[in-house]
Amino acid sequence: MQPYLPLLAALVALLVGLAVGKAWERYKLHEGTWVDRRRLRESPHFILGLNFLVAGQVDLAIEEFGAAANVDPGSLEIRLILGNLYREKGQVGRAIQEHQNLLQRPKLKKLEHANVLLCLGLDFRRGGFIDRAVEAFNEVLRLDPENRYALVNLEKLYAEQRQWQDAYEARRRLAQLSGGRPSERDQTVLAFLEHALGQQALQQGDRPTAIQRFEAAIDLSPSMAPAFLNLGDARLDQHNPAAAAAAWERLVQMAPDRAYLAFSRLERVYATLGTPERFPELCRRLIAANPLDWRARLALARHLAERGRTREGLDLLFDAVAVNPHALALHQAIWPMLSALDLPQALVARYIDLTRDSIFYLDPHVCVRCRYRSTELLWQCPHCHEWNTFVEERIAPAQEEESNETLAN
Ligand SMILES: [Zn+2]
Repeated sequence: MQPYLPLLAALVALLVGLAVGKAWERYKLHEGTWVDRRRLRESPHFILGLNFLVAGQVDLAIEEFGAAANVDPGSLEIRLILGNLYREKGQVGRAIQEHQNLLQRPKLKKLEHANVLLCLGLDFRRGGFIDRAVEAFNEVLRLDPENRYALVNLEKLYAEQRQWQDAYEARRRLAQLSGGRPSERDQTVLAFLEHALGQQALQQGDRPTAIQRFEAAIDLSPSMAPAFLNLGDARLDQHNPAAAAAAWERLVQMAPDRAYLAFSRLERVYATLGTPERFPELCRRLIAANPLDWRARLALARHLAERGRTREGLDLLFDAVAVNPHALALHQAIWPMLSALDLPQALVARYIDLTRDSIFYLDPHVCVRCRYRSTELLWQCPHCHEWNTFVEERIAPAQEEESNETLAN
């Protein structure tokens, strides 16, 4: 037996250790009294709360999490969740109170402190207490410098306040967190913030800085349409039409789908430079490169009509309507041109034929993130505040829809 004794002792020690560990896991000293933590897991409230949360029944979730918090008064997580639920319900004052109470707890660990402050910052933001929200998020970053969520929220808050330099700094820190090269999204956001800084410089009358900012924005994101537009405008204000034309031509080259934004500027500046023929040439190049480009056709049609070539213009517009029958701008251009020709019957009949099944609408731009609709192209969504999310909405040509319907029937 003798040789087995040490082994037996080791086994007993192991078992005792396990038992102590289990007890430690089960009970926790909470403000001087032992609390059975297992009770929380055995009580149904926490799981029920989660189920209601998943089902979107916030009121019932609050009830269950409240009951769960009573079972385990020491739990930080449950009270955090409760506060967040109050915020989501719009009870911001209650959310703030809940989260502020948590800050009063002694011996909060650093990251716990940061998490509570983050929730509090979101409460303040929701309640419109911008300064206090900014303060809370900055405090989170002091405790936890790599907290992405705090940085994202700070960037949005600064951008909403048009504090572009601070927003830029927040995004730069976010980009650095990823390590390595900044992602394409980081680059795009930084480009838009650079652009906003350029516009701010323009407002302050500092054109050289504005030009630097616009060029920096283009370096960050080479298809940055608004920066090209403003860069050209600034060059023109410097009495340099050739440089302005160059900036707008780079836009056409780098972002052909946005080329139309520079059309009227280019048309004017080519005339200034004494080379008006460059404009119709540009439109024809765009149409050849993209047969669906209805905006280049519209611009060329107007250009020709102004020079008395209305019939040619109408042909272009009819081609454009065939590509995009829903663009109101095309129809608005067609009507006066038809009138100018005294409504020739053959052309009117062709027009009626083209438009028979079209639905007209005036809000062709939609945010791909939140589906916000706008009658004009916006660079930042007023609803979800995201950058560069607007695309032109297209409804399939009526004929296609008909044939699909036939197939479905
Ligand atoms: Zn949006």
